[in-house]
Amino acid sequence: MTRQYDAIVIGSGPNGLAAAITLAQAGCSVLVIEGKETIGGGLRSAELTLPGFIHDPCSAVHPLGMGSPFFRGLPLERFGLRWIQPAAPLAHPLGSGEADAVLVERSLDATAARLGVDAGRYRLLMEPLVENWAGLLGDLLGPLSVPRHPLLYARFGATAILPATGLARSLFKAERARALFAGLASHSIMPLERPLSAAFGLTLGLLAHGVGWPIPEGGSQRVTDALVGYFQSLGGDLVTGWMVKGLNELPKASAYLFDITPRQLLQITGDRLPAGYQRQLSRFRYGPGVFKVDLALDGPIPWADSNCALAGTVHLGGTLDEIAAGERAVWRGEHPERPFVLLAQQSLFDASRAPAGKHTVWAYCHVPNGSPVDMTDRIEAQIERFAPGFREHILARHTRSAVQLEQYNPNYIGGDINAGVQDLRQQFTRPAIRPVPYTTPDPQIFLCSSSTPPGGGVHGMCGYHAAQAALRRVR
Ligand SMILES: Cc1cc2nc3c(=O)[nH]c(=O)nc-3n(C[C@H](O)[C@H](O)[C@H](O)COP(=O)(O)OP(=O)(O)OC[C@H]3O[C@@H](n4cnc5c(N)ncnc54)[C@H](O)[C@@H]3O)c2cc1C
Repeated sequence: MTRQYDAIVIGSGPNGLAAAITLAQAGCSVLVIEGKETIGGGLRSAELTLPGFIHDPCSAVHPLGMGSPFFRGLPLERFGLRWIQPAAPLAHPLGSGEADAVLVERSLDATAARLGVDAGRYRLLMEPLVENWAGLLGDLLGPLSVPRHPLLYARFGATAILPATGLARSLFKAERARALFAGLASHSIMPLERPLSAAFGLTLGLLAHGVGWPIPEGGSQRVTDALVGYFQSLGGDLVTGWMVKGLNELPKASAYLFDITPRQLLQITGDRLPAGYQRQLSRFRYGPGVFKVDLALDGPIPWADSNCALAGTVHLGGTLDEIAAGERAVWRGEHPERPFVLLAQQSLFDASRAPAGKHTVWAYCHVPNGSPVDMTDRIEAQIERFAPGFREHILARHTRSAVQLEQYNPNYIGGDINAGVQDLRQQFTRPAIRPVPYTTPDPQIFLCSSSTPPGGGVHGMCGYHAAQAALRRVR
């Protein structure tokens, strides 16, 4: 390829595409290079099990995508994206039978009302955050800087910094609210006794009420397709099937933005980066992996509590103690017998996902980094526990271990879907300590993946902020 570009983006995950769009919007000529044959990274869909069953191999539920200040400003609906809001964002059954599930609804009041003695405390915790969700999200989804809403940010920060277990046990009196919060905080993929694990519970909770936990009609690939459609309308170029191995193979450009993690950047850049920065990147820590299951069913999941069928996402793990024990075990390098399972049932709300009367299930659990262990039985046992008879409905299954997830997407080092641990130490210093974390000591090289702030999830904000830094260089 001989053409010269203002900027080249390596990797086409949501952050790579967000970076490419931001640069193209500013009038730059941009090329995106994707190593795999399909664009999208963790934002794709495929018929993984049987014809007509559309699964999401990675991300499926998009509160961050819909709430993202960057995505909200793009005309994605014009390029075919339609968000579907399930009747309720989340259900969390506790296993004691009919009508015991905690249901998180869009309405804060309706949700609180189901929490019994903790109704008032839940409202007190969430209300100020939910009322100002857009402003707060703008401050949270970026690098550490002076917040635009300092009071709100301080209020959030004072609670967010706590361990989830400590916060849930001291604030809530009953198991229902405690278990709910533990499930939300488990998205942190770290022990719930760790500082900052509460931040994930708060953020996902406020998003459930403020934004919803929507799914894209037709699957996550539709978000990618809309991003690509818009990018191409701005004149952007894309090439697939080109796994970049070294800098010398890249066409000339003023800036290179890498939608990859520090370990891959070190391999690609060799000694071009100074030794001190290389040392920092080599100390970057990766977290636990995940084991993923996609199922084709001949009918809906037969939940013991029919309220679970109202929710797009269901958290399966029982009580706070049980969930916390599972997450601790994973961190110690063990595979819990009863893992915390995150499950989505998109076809209940989107008929395009499966043939008439049939259904899809998307589920995963956390496992130690680099685990080759098959968790299918344990995940299915957790579903069966809250939906007796569920296994009889399985028509076909597709699974990926943590090791296989890295083969599917090289950014998932050891199966780590957040591209690096998001604990207190690394959340604010990812990928290395620098005034602008997206820059490197080489003025042409930038990192734009979820290994930079604000971290994992489909929101495009790492890409957006990296592109802002690169624009200063290109200009
Ligand atoms: C099972 C699972 C469930 C998830 N669920 C959710 C969810 O419900 N909601 C949510 O918000 N997030 C979810 N996530 C996380 C989300 O998918 C990621 O945080 C997000 O995709 C990260 O975006 P990214 O652009 O940083 O990187 P990625 O999406 O990982 O994209 C990186 C891209 O770079 C390409 N690449 C890597 N190396 C090279 C190279 N050398 N040359 C060329 N191309 C290269 C890769 O092939 C890939 O396409 C989930 C992830 C997984 C695996």
